[in-house]
Amino acid sequence: MTVTKTTPDLIIGSHVGMSGKEMFLGSAKEAVSYGANTLMAYTGAPQNTKRKEIEECRIEEGWRYLKENGIEQIVIHAPYIINLANTVKPEIFSLAVEFLEKELSRSTGFGSNILILHPGSHVGEGSEKGIARIIEGLNEVMTKDMPCKIALETMAGKGSEIGKSFEELSAIYEGVRYPENLRVCFDTCHTYDAGYDIKDDFDGVMEEFDKILGKDQIAVFHINDSKNSKGAAKDRHANLGKGEIGLGALHRIVHHEDFLSIPKILETPWIPDPKDPGKTVAPYKEEIALLRAPLL
Ligand code: FE
Ligand code: FE
Ligand code: ZN
Repeated sequence: MTVTKTTPDLIIGSHVGMSGKEMFLGSAKEAVSYGANTLMAYTGAPQNTKRKEIEECRIEEGWRYLKENGIEQIVIHAPYIINLANTVKPEIFSLAVEFLEKELSRSTGFGSNILILHPGSHVGEGSEKGIARIIEGLNEVMTKDMPCKIALETMAGKGSEIGKSFEELSAIYEGVRYPENLRVCFDTCHTYDAGYDIKDDFDGVMEEFDKILGKDQIAVFHINDSKNSKGAAKDRHANLGKGEIGLGALHRIVHHEDFLSIPKILETPWIPDPKDPGKTVAPYKEEIALLRAPLL
């Protein structure tokens, strides 16, 4: 008998839209059209808090379509206007807490057990105070047996963003009552922008991550190239192989044996349509294929 070692299929997809009449069914179709086997969606426009009633989102139909096409797992991203860290305007903080609570139950309603959250920006009074606010906010919404975990995203450090270092994320873990219900979303563009050398020393970065937070805390990867150099703190995503990180390094990360079962989500920019340069098209079908194929 010959035993062949098979590599498990990568779990890879992209950010997809959700709008119009089809709502989540449309998101599902979009993901399948890219050859993806996972997806990430916002439950409404990422820049505002207007949300359709969950009953109108065609979730069951979307899930039927996903399952028919072999997709079992999705993730939801919280809108970026949620800023728990705001140390300047207390009314923004309470709105953020209220909305995060709703978003958590929406995420569960969409069938996701992960809600990705940008920790927030302190906008003035420094990281320490910002982190204290984030902890306070999380403690208001997190419960012992919440079905949906909150994945704190590693941030680029643009402006006054919190989450630009593993230590800052760790401080949030240390402050919350139920740290077992937190996870991390590891964004390649953001960590590179924050100064971590994921390009030439991903294993070294992971060793450090493991000491500070624990490798098993990574629930999602965002796979993006970066328009800027290491440590630039700019947060500008580039298409795979078109930025400073490069396809080789991103391909190695995606195929890293420690994270094969972790979903990888592309958030690279749309590209000009070769047939109609005035329009843009999603690059995801090609980029997913690029990551699945062996590197030449
Ligand atoms: Fe994000
Ligand atoms: Fe991201
Ligand atoms: Zn970003």
